[in-house]
Amino acid sequence: KPAASTNFLKNIIEADLAANKFAVRRWGGQPGDAATHAAGEADPAKIRTRFPPEPNGYLHIGHAKSICLNFGLARDYGGVCHMRFDDTNPEKEEQEYVDGILDAVKWLGFDWTANGQEHLFHASDYFDFMYHAAEHLISQGHAYVDQQTPDEMRANRGTLTEPGKPSPWRDRLADESIALFREMRDGMYPDGSMILRAKIDMASPNINLRDPAIYRIRHAEHHRAGNHWCVYPMYTFAHPIEDALEQITHSICTLEFEDQRPFYDWLLARLAEGGLLAAPLPHQYEFARLNLTYVITSKRKLKQLVDDKHVDGWDDPRMPTIVGLRRRGYTPEAIRLFCERIGASKHDSWIDYSTLEGALREDLDEKAPRAMAVLDPLKLKLTNWEHCFTSRTEPCHAPVHPHHPEMGQRRFDLTSELWIEREDFLEMPTKGYQRLYPGNMTRLKYGCVIKCTGCEKDADGNITAVLAEVVPDTKSGTPGADSVKVKGVITWVCAREALKAEVRLYDRLFSEAHPDAGGRDFLEALNPGSKRIVTAYVEPGLVSSHAGESYQFERHGYFVADRKDHTSKTLVFNRTTTLRDTWSK
Ligand code: ATP
Ligand code: MG
Ligand code: MG
Repeated sequence: KPAASTNFLKNIIEADLAANKFAVRRWGGQPGDAATHAAGEADPAKIRTRFPPEPNGYLHIGHAKSICLNFGLARDYGGVCHMRFDDTNPEKEEQEYVDGILDAVKWLGFDWTANGQEHLFHASDYFDFMYHAAEHLISQGHAYVDQQTPDEMRANRGTLTEPGKPSPWRDRLADESIALFREMRDGMYPDGSMILRAKIDMASPNINLRDPAIYRIRHAEHHRAGNHWCVYPMYTFAHPIEDALEQITHSICTLEFEDQRPFYDWLLARLAEGGLLAAPLPHQYEFARLNLTYVITSKRKLKQLVDDKHVDGWDDPRMPTIVGLRRRGYTPEAIRLFCERIGASKHDSWIDYSTLEGALREDLDEKAPRAMAVLDPLKLKLTNWEHCFTSRTEPCHAPVHPHHPEMGQRRFDLTSELWIEREDFLEMPTKGYQRLYPGNMTRLKYGCVIKCTGCEKDADGNITAVLAEVVPDTKSGTPGADSVKVKGVITWVCAREALKAEVRLYDRLFSEAHPDAGGRDFLEALNPGSKRIVTAYVEPGLVSSHAGESYQFERHGYFVADRKDHTSKTLVFNRTTTLRDTWSK
């Protein structure tokens, strides 16, 4: 069930469905266009949404919100969500990004196939139609070719308080504009030398209606259309047309586009009047974009982090990209849970990063097998072993998951030499310290109670080993194991059988909650301690861990076997998150 706050969109959809708004659909385009197919598929009476990324980078957590919303609403109301690439900017777009985006959407658990049909579209599929629509607007006196320089155009646009000034070319004859537009298309003019503008209202209080540009010259190769075109539609012109051709019912976008809605409606109305499009026309609805503390959700800035090597690529586990989150150990379920919880509202706000981590912990706590790992190893020697045990090793057992006995048991050995965490020994205990210090008793988790007797040091006085004695008859799982009461419990691994592992201790990429607030340089907010690599010792059972698998390292948090670098010979784990939120205290 979507969160309560998505209700404003659900209310709209339910009212539209109750009014049978989409019962009759006709399509007025040219037969043979890709869009004809789009319109023909799926149940026409149901809603149709779309997720329309531009393939100019990898998707991030903000996009996940839009994906969950659009695909989620289509699923909840038995409709279809179109996967559509808004590829109208040839210079910035690449096939690599197209592939990455499709992977991310699939990984999140969504699918653009409905009733056996793929609903995968590209704005570039409609370039012919868009060109035709532009000529139609010119012929009806709704558009003209403007030859002002970009500077003149900007100056004549006016301000919030002053109306704009009409271009000297505004009233040129339609035939002249058509001829020029065709010459633009035929490559006779350089980039930026002229532009096609809609003719609406230079005095409109909404600046977006002061004759917005709709087609521009770009001599650039397009990743799908090649060099076929040298004029490309502006996003604001292309988007409503894409929606209409695909018979999208609810075009859901972020609040920044609210001021574009009048142009969206104006354009579709003009094309419908001319018979190029048929009712019911799509409607645009706006929701608040995701703003997440400690995170940047701008593709441009994320690209800069990658290009300038502040991170190790788009899938660096510190990146808020879907590939980065995945490599960090995030699960699709956790991201969907997060998106459901934050819902969608009509007002901008900030979501605390701990909400995302909270959803992740909730998901992983249920699923992740447990294991012991020592991240900052210090040797522990049990000096009375022979007096307590007959063999060199004592088998120990622990549940794979404390709440899921069906997941089975782990097995590992206790021996006279172990690795423990350096912080679990203090020569001089602080107040309340319950772990190892000379004279104190502590339990080795799943093992036995031990009593600390002292430590060994090197010539410089550094502690090289902790010494302790086994307290007889206290082994976990044996009768009377609890007869000796102790307050502290510590984790450990057996020095003989533990496996060495590289553990990458990731932390937040930025140390400030609003890294790009107030026009400040976001690079200054980078957290210098966001990645620390340690050599750890882990439980022997992890020899069979596979890349991409998540574990809870008891007391430390959740860790994932790195998707790229982990093998059964070279263990590499990424810290996904700690067990508790350590930032908000
Ligand atoms: P960016 O500014 O990061 O480049 P964008 O909006 O330009 O993002 P698109 O590829 O055009 O990126 O976005 C595809 C869809 O994802 C759009 O419908 C957009 O509204 C949505 N989207 C992008 N960022 C967010 C966000 N932070 N929260 C919610 N939705 C978002
Ligand atoms: Mg965009
Ligand atoms: Mg953008």
